[in-house]
Amino acid sequence: MKIPFSPPYINQAVIDEVTDSLKSGWITTGPKVKKLEDLVCEYVGVPNTLCVNSATSGLMLALKWYGIGPGDEVIVPAYTYSATALAVMHVGATPVMVDVNSDFNISVAAIEKAITHKTKAIMPVDIAGWPCDYDEIQELVENKKSLFKAESEKQTVLNRIITIADAAHAIGAKYKNRYVGLTADITVFSFHAVKNITTAEGGAVSLNLPEPFNNQEEYNYMRCFALNGQTKDAFTKSKAGGWKYDIIYPGMKINMPDVLAAIGVAQMPEYFSHILAKRETIYNYYQDYFKTKSWAIIPPCKNANKLSSCHLYALRIKDITEEQRDAIIDKISSEGVAVNVHFQPLPLLTLFKNMGYKIEDYPMAYDNFKSEISLPIYPQLTEHELEYIVNTVENAVESCLC
Ligand SMILES: *Cc1c(COP(=O)(O)O)cnc(C)c1O
Repeated sequence: MKIPFSPPYINQAVIDEVTDSLKSGWITTGPKVKKLEDLVCEYVGVPNTLCVNSATSGLMLALKWYGIGPGDEVIVPAYTYSATALAVMHVGATPVMVDVNSDFNISVAAIEKAITHKTKAIMPVDIAGWPCDYDEIQELVENKKSLFKAESEKQTVLNRIITIADAAHAIGAKYKNRYVGLTADITVFSFHAVKNITTAEGGAVSLNLPEPFNNQEEYNYMRCFALNGQTKDAFTKSKAGGWKYDIIYPGMKINMPDVLAAIGVAQMPEYFSHILAKRETIYNYYQDYFKTKSWAIIPPCKNANKLSSCHLYALRIKDITEEQRDAIIDKISSEGVAVNVHFQPLPLLTLFKNMGYKIEDYPMAYDNFKSEISLPIYPQLTEHELEYIVNTVENAVESCLC
């Protein structure tokens, strides 16, 4: 049997919506993008959402919007995808990496120790779709207000460290009965091909800024900034008599095209009505199977405060080395099951190693990584395939452990 890791979920509704866009005579940013933004706002409950061409550029946009640049520090977890730290570097700021908890997410105690008078933002990452400790993080930025030095117009208004969540995995996840999106000042979702909802490539920046910010006004600013700082988008300019525009900011070119937004427009209602529940069913199938195995560390899915979006099933094997884990993966792969590792901690990667980050400083990140194997999780998986996956994993682990 051959089981891919994460094929996109493309049904007739997606094909119809994309075809509609292709036949409409308008394929870049326009009505489909607006529709997708409205859907994110409607389902997640956030006041405003801007769609962009990736989560990475969405994170950069949020950092730039807050006036973050050279000399500033942004706290990120050492255990994440590289984009979290690269977005910080792309705006010229310094990523300050901190260690994580055994649930894979950024440690609030480690954040507290890392805050300095240069800290401008904290970027929590909901690894695998499991929400971070948002209230504790929000409390921390309030408590550290006296250290904060405002250096831009937006910083003067907020007057504290901003929380910009990298929720690439977490659309549909819940924290204290609120969807992730209502849990940080700005939340960035990813619609990359492997994420829970996709537009092939894409991202969404959801605004949840406190008073006295007007989220609609900040959305308008960001929308303009995401399109070269141009006062009119191409759709408006294309109308008769609409040719004249101005450039008012040194913006980026990171808008989402309609033809891609169409995929998300079709997926979003299905995701919230049944696909998310299907992911949870698969997650629970794995939980029920592996919780009876003495060698398994099962990942978190639900507690009194948090509900995962079940983006990844991050299984860990007790007391194994990195080499043993790699051997288990080889065995599983040879049986046709594609698995993955989420993530290699950033200090293990050449770029960050060369910048001076040392894995020894992030013992939990390394511990989580060395025994982790991500199993396939997507709505197309059948009961028969799931059985094959758990049996293959069990055989591989047991043959490698003895
Ligand atoms: C996928 C991912 C991103 C980047 O998303 P893009 O839309 O591909 O830019 C950022 N952070 C994490 C944790 C991710 O998994």
